[in-house]
Amino acid sequence: MRAAILNSPASVLDRPLEIGRAPQPELQPGRVLIRVRACGVCRTDLHIVEGELPPRRRPLIPGHQIVGEIAGGSAPGLPLGARVGVSWLGGVDGGCPYCRRGAENLCDAPTFTGYTVDGGYAEYALARADFVHPLPGALDDLQAAPLLCAGIIGFRSLRVAGVEPGESVGLFGFGASAHLAISVLHAWKCKVYVSTRGASHRRLAASLGAAWVGAEEDRPPVELDRAITFAPSGDVVIAALSSLRKGGVVAINAIHLDRIPEFDYDRLLWGERQIRSVANMTRADARDFLQIAAAINLRPKVTAFPLDQANEALQAVKADSIDGAAVITL
Ligand SMILES: [Zn+2]
Ligand SMILES: [Zn+2]
Repeated sequence: MRAAILNSPASVLDRPLEIGRAPQPELQPGRVLIRVRACGVCRTDLHIVEGELPPRRRPLIPGHQIVGEIAGGSAPGLPLGARVGVSWLGGVDGGCPYCRRGAENLCDAPTFTGYTVDGGYAEYALARADFVHPLPGALDDLQAAPLLCAGIIGFRSLRVAGVEPGESVGLFGFGASAHLAISVLHAWKCKVYVSTRGASHRRLAASLGAAWVGAEEDRPPVELDRAITFAPSGDVVIAALSSLRKGGVVAINAIHLDRIPEFDYDRLLWGERQIRSVANMTRADARDFLQIAAAINLRPKVTAFPLDQANEALQAVKADSIDGAAVITL
């Protein structure tokens, strides 16, 4: 099969993905073979390909927002040909203390799609049958792909931040995840304040109905109940923290953060303000979010790249040069 293969991590400017041929995965018990139609490109892919997340296998086929159809094996209620999605959480052990308390996102022995096992930058992918998600019919393949990580984890961030209907919520950074989360927030009647670098991201936020849009160094005109940060930057976390009311919460949606700068505890954290991190996702997050996405007719903004442009897709994510999400098409 054709695939984009990572042999050794390097800057995406050096085109580390080799576009070539790889063996088609062999069907195993409890797995389904998926013929990939589209695979979203996530910032986490960038961290993997550039080596900020330590390599877990080589060579590796990245990609964890897989849309495809079942081409072999079977999953409960999903016949051959059924359209499914595969996300970052590719499997859990089911028996560790975290799985037992219903926090499978924190599993001690997880499988991560496109990181600890091969992912979807390829014509075929293998997935655990109990970790594929049926997809709402209304969404086409391209639009469904970014829902599977950017969407689900953006949704989980709203949950981790504890967003209540009608609250004032800040989104710091406005890429693939935030531009989906804003629609969910609007469905919950929240007012959304967006602070982001890049004029095109600010225009997108305004067009999606943000109550206020500012640049990275600007502060929202109101005290926020909740804030979610989407940039791998500690400075952005501090900016979000300094915009919170007492008792407010910042949820950090970033698998990697450059550092947390020194900050003034008395002014920024005292008053029961909280900083939380968002880690991975659960199958319940996926199910609940995909239901909401279908109900509110969520239409992600996407830019398509053919498989042989996988390096360019990652470069575009790195440069923040496209609105919405990058998706590789097969
Ligand atoms: Zn992701
Ligand atoms: Zn576990």
